[in-house]
Amino acid sequence: MPESDAFLARRRDQLSANLERVRTRIAAAARAAGRTDLPELIVVTKFHPAGDVRLLAELGVTDVGENRDQEASAKAAELADLSLTWHFIGQLQTNKAKSVVRYAAAVHSVDRASLVSALAKAVEADSTRDGRPLDCLIQVNLAVHATTGRGGALPAEVASLAELVASSHSLRLAGLMAVAPLGEDPGPAFARLAECAQQLRNSHPRATMVSAGMSQDLEQAVAAGATHVRIGTDVLGPRPRVL
Ligand SMILES: *Cc1c(COP(=O)(O)O)cnc(C)c1O
Repeated sequence: MPESDAFLARRRDQLSANLERVRTRIAAAARAAGRTDLPELIVVTKFHPAGDVRLLAELGVTDVGENRDQEASAKAAELADLSLTWHFIGQLQTNKAKSVVRYAAAVHSVDRASLVSALAKAVEADSTRDGRPLDCLIQVNLAVHATTGRGGALPAEVASLAELVASSHSLRLAGLMAVAPLGEDPGPAFARLAECAQQLRNSHPRATMVSAGMSQDLEQAVAAGATHVRIGTDVLGPRPRVL
């Protein structure tokens, strides 16, 4: 069903206003933290239609995040005429690696050795990438008690995973990613992430990405040094329950 021009125009205005508010928040948080750099915005478009992503691109968004391969690959194919950078931010099964490397420039959710080898193999086998390495972020589980975590490697596992990524010529170790643990103050959790990120940079100076901060906690993440925030709800509104 083609959407009416009026609907599209209204949605565009809404997205534009939301984007402006989020960009203002990011800038204010950076200023408040005494930062002179501006964290980059990745708009998380999961569950929202490709039409929204197209509007976002028209509004200047360059980076989008998705967490399910089936949905992401369909959108990326539909929007192949746009020069968007796709970030894969969800839990990833090794059998989806082949598909993900076809459209994603970065995978933020690298959390185990088997996924590192699957991604490396997939990049090597993908003729469309022309040897362009895949940016990999190690996802860190920030929960104090790991069982309450929302995925990710334990902080103690980060160094060896990082070595594994760095030793692959088809992968580039880009940095770390984390989600604030549920039911915990995000501030101290992001401070632990900042510590892990510093340790990582000590041995891998170019692994500078720190992907942290969602709609609810972007200020705390920016205060703790996030270089990339991943914002869904506050740009696109609530996610539809069924796609
Ligand atoms: C959905 C999601 C986001 C965006 O969350 P919002 O609260 O909608 O801003 C960020 N990061 C990850 C890993 C996600 O799955």
